[in-house]
Amino acid sequence: MQDFTEKAIILRVGRFREADLWLRLFTPHRGLLTAFAFGGSRSRRRFVGCLDPLNLVLFGFSRSRTGNYLSLTEGTLLDGRPGLRGNASRLGIAANCVKFFEAVHVEPEGSVRSFNLLEESLEAVERCPDLSPMFPVFFRLRTAFEQGYGPSLDTCSRCGKVLKTSVAPLLLIEEGRISCEACATEHGWRIPLNAGSLAVLDRVRRESPRQWCSLVPDAADRRRLFDVADGFMRWHLGLRWEDGRFLKT
Ligand SMILES: [Zn+2]
Repeated sequence: MQDFTEKAIILRVGRFREADLWLRLFTPHRGLLTAFAFGGSRSRRRFVGCLDPLNLVLFGFSRSRTGNYLSLTEGTLLDGRPGLRGNASRLGIAANCVKFFEAVHVEPEGSVRSFNLLEESLEAVERCPDLSPMFPVFFRLRTAFEQGYGPSLDTCSRCGKVLKTSVAPLLLIEEGRISCEACATEHGWRIPLNAGSLAVLDRVRRESPRQWCSLVPDAADRRRLFDVADGFMRWHLGLRWEDGRFLKT
């Protein structure tokens, strides 16, 4: 018996008995879910081409009698992302984004927005003609912004001076704000910014991934943006990247 249907992006798939699979899914209305596909690795009919990571699928879900777990009753493939399948480097970028996304999202609130961001991002990784090597860093920044770690990018948080024309604006990681040089606290984790890196941060925050997917800042700005993403990730999201995984710090 089917309890509900929902669109889902498959984040991970694992096998737990000979023919049975478990899937880690992200859905627009229920956030992250784990569900079982009993007989999934054999059932060609109920799950035609559905059960691969990164696919967008309309699934039927059923709750176990005790309510302890979900199983999948059937699936209809909505997008198999064919442009990613034959491209190892893009597949790697997509997988990196998905791992970060899964590490960050625990709560179902705001999941429609998060779902749309993930879907648009995977679409951009698949289709952007000149995909920027910075895409995973931009994705982490945008995710941090979506999680509420978004300092004002326009004016100094203390004196209101316009940042893009200020001499040496600084991102104060612990305080989660950007300050002009004069108002910055002396201590703590400070990342120097400039007009170029502020402009990129602003675009990544406001625009859709398809609009920033090919953006390649100069080398110095790339370094700054990488440091900003790393700062947000480690200080505010409590994550570090190690051995191909995001771990809690
Ligand atoms: Zn100031």
